[in-house]
Amino acid sequence: MSTRYWCESAWVDGAVARGVLLSADDTGTLTAVETGIDTAPSDAEAVHGFVLPGGVNAHSHAFHRMLRGRTHGDGGTFWTWREVMYSVAAKLDPQSYGTVARAVFAEMLAGGYTSVGEFHYVHHAQDGTPYGTERPRGDAADPVAEADDHTARPRGDANDDAEPRAHAMERALARAAASAGIRIRLLDTCYLTGAIDAELSPEQARFGDGTIDGYMDRHAGLTEAFAEEFPVNAPGESFVHVGAAIHSIRAVPAANLPRFAELTGPVHVHLSEQPAENEACQSAYGASPTEVLGRSGVVTDRLSAVHATHLSEEDIAILGGSRSTIVMCPCTEADLADGIGPARELADAGAVISLGSDQHVVLDALRETQGLEAGERLRSGQRGRFSPTELITALTEGGARSLDLPVGALEVGKACDFVALRTDSMRTMGSLDEQIILTATSTDVSLTVSGGRVRVRDGVHAELGDISELYAQAFAALEMEG
Ligand SMILES: [Zn+2]
Repeated sequence: MSTRYWCESAWVDGAVARGVLLSADDTGTLTAVETGIDTAPSDAEAVHGFVLPGGVNAHSHAFHRMLRGRTHGDGGTFWTWREVMYSVAAKLDPQSYGTVARAVFAEMLAGGYTSVGEFHYVHHAQDGTPYGTERPRGDAADPVAEADDHTARPRGDANDDAEPRAHAMERALARAAASAGIRIRLLDTCYLTGAIDAELSPEQARFGDGTIDGYMDRHAGLTEAFAEEFPVNAPGESFVHVGAAIHSIRAVPAANLPRFAELTGPVHVHLSEQPAENEACQSAYGASPTEVLGRSGVVTDRLSAVHATHLSEEDIAILGGSRSTIVMCPCTEADLADGIGPARELADAGAVISLGSDQHVVLDALRETQGLEAGERLRSGQRGRFSPTELITALTEGGARSLDLPVGALEVGKACDFVALRTDSMRTMGSLDEQIILTATSTDVSLTVSGGRVRVRDGVHAELGDISELYAQAFAALEMEG
């Protein structure tokens, strides 16, 4: 049994192709990509407009979406925004986070993304206690009740109460991604200090693992637990993957960084988003954050540096020379008044550019991509700093490289993940297919397919329904006004 889509026009091998027939097997993996087929075969769904490989959102913090449109009243800075963000983080528990993430991932699919790198650091209960290690309520006062409790809930019982609670937040995110149909690389984040040489604040307690060994042990446990619950099989049907992240040079001591060079797979890090981070790093270590990471052996082609906004020429040479990936988040960087990073210079030095929506001021793969080129034009006074082809590559192949996922191109052996854009809307009418990346918005996404299955059609999720309704549930779960 195969699933087939005939696309009027699609991005294949770095160019626009007409009459493209995509065939996927039962696992949702592409088995054939044929071009020049004039009409849709009777067993294929006809897809009109222009089809792109699914966008890869290489940097997300799902719960930050709940702050959208609520933080603009009093001006402020990145740091004052962060205070409001912590107040939302404090409300999350595994159940509510699952509800929030399901809505956010559904919006992401509607916005043109089919994969996400979830940079996740809200690991534990509010007081920092790891889930699965809490003492059952009342057992301290009543040991008999504890014994009864164990009798009532034998190991392996399938009911909800007996579910393993270790890694509960991570499981909630992964399940939300799988149920929405977005491919996730869960970037399990190490967050040990509140600032360089400073303990975590009470609101950061739930992010921390105490020591680097604490993080490495939990990370190994998570990797094992996910391998069991979400085995990685054929490219199309594998939706959940684990990676690692260093929150930032603020949150992980330099002495601990070499441990990340021991890990296999992608490593992500927030890098030089704010000048204050660079200054603190210089005064503590006498070097820039990039230099500190470089000396620790973690600046490699497996590294994704997120933001990379305030860099020196030396920093650019280090990141480019190692062929690291840079995750630019132009809409968030504009929203938080971070600045405009040197994306063109990084690309010229050898780095790979990808895109992320970070705190989700918008979840629109098109606007995010346009933001990259807009920033470049504004800071350089020149047009075409990134060609339309380079912009599409950043959104697709660049992100696939960042997250090490078998996506990013309509190619045999990769996942059948794609989005269709309307070419006849009032926004896109007249645009050349190869330039539509600069004119369409998420409103023009008519169809999102992942693993060969339709996930969102005309803004409605195929299985979860109205995405606004999912958000109503998410705001209710956090007792926030929607
Ligand atoms: Zn971030």
